[in-house]
Amino acid sequence: MKKQDFSWLFSETVFEKVEAMTSYPRARVPTQPVLSVKSFTGFGKRHVPSVLDSGAAKFVTSGRVAIALALQQMNVGKDAEVLVPAYHCPAMVEPVIWSGATPVFYKINADTSVNLEDIKAKLNASSKVLMAANYFGFPQDLSALREFCDTNGLKLLEDCAHSFFGQHKGKPLGSFGDYAIGSSMKFFPVYEGGCLISSRNSLKKLKLNSAGLGFEAKSAFNALERSFEYQHLRFLKVILTVPTTLKNFIWGRIKSRSSSENYNLGPGASDGGFGFEEKWLNKRCSWFSRFLISTVARTRIANRRRENYLLLEEAVKDIPGCRPLFPELYQGVFPWVFPVITNNTQAIFDELKNAGVPVVRFGEFLWPCIDSTVCENSVNLSRCVLQFPCHQELRHDELNWMISMIKTALLKTELQKVEML
Ligand SMILES: *Cc1c(COP(=O)(O)O)cnc(C)c1O
Repeated sequence: MKKQDFSWLFSETVFEKVEAMTSYPRARVPTQPVLSVKSFTGFGKRHVPSVLDSGAAKFVTSGRVAIALALQQMNVGKDAEVLVPAYHCPAMVEPVIWSGATPVFYKINADTSVNLEDIKAKLNASSKVLMAANYFGFPQDLSALREFCDTNGLKLLEDCAHSFFGQHKGKPLGSFGDYAIGSSMKFFPVYEGGCLISSRNSLKKLKLNSAGLGFEAKSAFNALERSFEYQHLRFLKVILTVPTTLKNFIWGRIKSRSSSENYNLGPGASDGGFGFEEKWLNKRCSWFSRFLISTVARTRIANRRRENYLLLEEAVKDIPGCRPLFPELYQGVFPWVFPVITNNTQAIFDELKNAGVPVVRFGEFLWPCIDSTVCENSVNLSRCVLQFPCHQELRHDELNWMISMIKTALLKTELQKVEML
């Protein structure tokens, strides 16, 4: 593929898919964590290891920006090749393209583990970095990857966007890579945020600057507004009615006066966009996001995610035609979502999305050169796996509603199949 070829983003099929995606109704329960009073309660004594324990961290506005910065820190540019998993989201590939390097897609196995044999076959003098993701929160065999990289003169970029919490062989996730990245929005009730971490290199020379007061305000208001939308902070909504109205008024005035460029105060990453925006490269995460990341109860996040995951697992376990992607939620895994393999995935996805169920599909849009000759497993995972949120801010009533909707949809498609036989 040509390096600067973005035409696929506008090609009809992808465009149509994106259109269809955005025309679903708003999810009835929050897809990502939203702020609640409980976010601050339930501190446990037990410390849950997280990527922040693995080394020095810099807080930026998204995970993809952290990937770009990691590549920059490793001096990856033109003439370099970065090994990228064929199972990915475009936000993992775009920073590689931006860096000038060539992404070389490697195979993953059916259980999402890295296929080292395939990587070995793809190495050459230009290979510089291996990017590996702990999909859905389940760690790769990171010590094996580390050893492989050391043997072959590669740097390891550990993508912990799905695995903010957890450990492998007694060490926190993030400590195996030369650099690691996290995506705060996937785990914390924040509007924007990502982090770059390194257990092996100093990040002191990396200077970040403020994105301005408008951005600081937007980040705080949007985090609160998302919570209000789902009625998770009812009392605060009442108190903040006046300032919110005022803010919307001012926003409206600014928008009507300036070009779209000027009032675009938040990163596209926070609004479901795929793209990489260079203007956010050296911007610091907002004060409000950093405040929340440091003050909300981490043990609650970690424990609730496991509990909710297990409830979802229990709910689908006897339904024919589907099975959890991972056979077991073993100790030390703090999942991002609950991934399940289904028959008739697209129909179930459409039905649930139309009913307002917050179903996600990581890897729904693979880079256009990926087909079954590149990696059959990635294509299958992209097509057949649905993910359901298991985040800490799902209330019992929301989770129960979601579970009953999921069960109905899964059973219905199975029944239809039986009728057709
Ligand atoms: C979401 C995601 C990213 C990018 O994170 P953002 O914060 O959305 O920029 C990177 N890698 C993986 C595996 C992701 O799922």
